Amino acid sequence: MSLSEASSDVVVVGGGIVGTAVAWRAVEAGLSVTLLDPSPGDGATHAAAGMLAPVSESWFGESALARLGIAGLAAWPRFAADLARATGIDVGLRETGTLVAAYDADDVAHLRRWLALHAELGLEPTELTGTQARRREPLLGHHVAGAAWVPGDHVADPRTTRAALSAALHAHPGAAVVRSAAVRLERDAGAVVGVHDDAGTLHRAGAVVLAAGWRSGELAAAPVRPVRGQTLRLDAPPGTAPEHVVRGRVQGRPVYVVPRPPGTGSGPGTTAEHREVVVGATSEEGPADRRPSAGGVFALLRDARALVPALDEAAFVEATLRARPATPDNLPLVGPSATPGLHLATGHHRGGVLLAPLTAEAVVAGLTGAALPPALSVADPDRFTPLLEGAS
Ligand SMILES: Cc1cc2nc3c(=O)[nH]c(=O)nc-3n(C[C@H](O)[C@H](O)[C@H](O)COP(=O)(O)OP(=O)(O)OC[C@H]3O[C@@H](n4cnc5c(N)ncnc54)[C@H](O)[C@@H]3O)c2cc1C
Repeated sequence: MSLSEASSDVVVVGGGIVGTAVAWRAVEAGLSVTLLDPSPGDGATHAAAGMLAPVSESWFGESALARLGIAGLAAWPRFAADLARATGIDVGLRETGTLVAAYDADDVAHLRRWLALHAELGLEPTELTGTQARRREPLLGHHVAGAAWVPGDHVADPRTTRAALSAALHAHPGAAVVRSAAVRLERDAGAVVGVHDDAGTLHRAGAVVLAAGWRSGELAAAPVRPVRGQTLRLDAPPGTAPEHVVRGRVQGRPVYVVPRPPGTGSGPGTTAEHREVVVGATSEEGPADRRPSAGGVFALLRDARALVPALDEAAFVEATLRARPATPDNLPLVGPSATPGLHLATGHHRGGVLLAPLTAEAVVAGLTGAALPPALSVADPDRFTPLLEGAS
């Protein structure tokens, strides 16, 4: 029995980058929205590097994900511009391309298989020698044997983006942010008509959007599991951070180095020229223990400095571990589900920052009865209908 009741057009469960993007686009579309989250922004979004990298992320068997990611990237410039107009906050979208580095001869062989796949898919990377790569990115280590240039893979700052979304919601009269956890869906004749929270309030709504990251499966039988990942944050003095995102393989291990613009450093002695640099990421199945592992931190630093040796000079600021929300086929769950009143915006695994703007457009289309963007057909939650029918 709930102690109190509230009502709105839409309740969004989860205030990560996906849930806040959905909530913001929904209030912009004229819907009243309640967003529920006991600690907004503290999920996978807090760890994410913010690479918008559908091409350099793609691998064999993932062409549907690559095409979805390319559509997701195309939605970013308008999203960033609209958010800057609404809040005055620059969300750090940098369209500067990505360098994919291969450290030794085996890594170069791996890179060439990846380039052959991209030629088949009609994608854009071009191979560079180590020398050509160092001309483009002078801080690249001298041992790096080869590389590819991906001009269309970019980066944004997930923490700043989520903070901007949060500011836009707080300023909007149609939005309410409630710091409590959803504990149970309210149902009426098989339809979802609201959510109970842990403070005893029933939030009634015409529609509920489940965007609770890897915990989405606790409220409905969404097939989402946690895949843990850790990133490191460094404070890089002038001359120690690369200009571009540098990612690649070092003796078979994937690693990336993501520089933010000057002025993003942190800690004592930081100047306007210091940059935040994000190094990532580990990936392991398992329970969502948030403690970074010593071995993970060691391996990330060792491999990052193999690609960019000048990072030795940077200060170590933070190691952060969170769980990505992964689905059985690595594609997200976006749009109306088979249960009336229940919409999904989850399961974005490695690409939730990349896909947040397109997901928000699609979910709002589903909420307002408009057609979903065609690129989202691969993310239809009904592909798991037998599982979702068990939603409780
Ligand atoms: C190490 C790492 C690096 C990454 N790098 C990138 C990258 O470079 N590019 C990219 O595109 N993606 C990246 N990702 C993936 C990306 O972070 C996720 O796909 C994305 O953050 C998912 O966003 P979300 O809003 O769905 O989930 P989350 O950010 O996890 O947010 C879920 C929210 O739901 C809330 N919640 C949970 N349960 C409840 C409940 N019962 N009631 C109310 N609220 C609840 C949580 O408090 C949380 O705030 C990375 C992820 C990790 C871990």
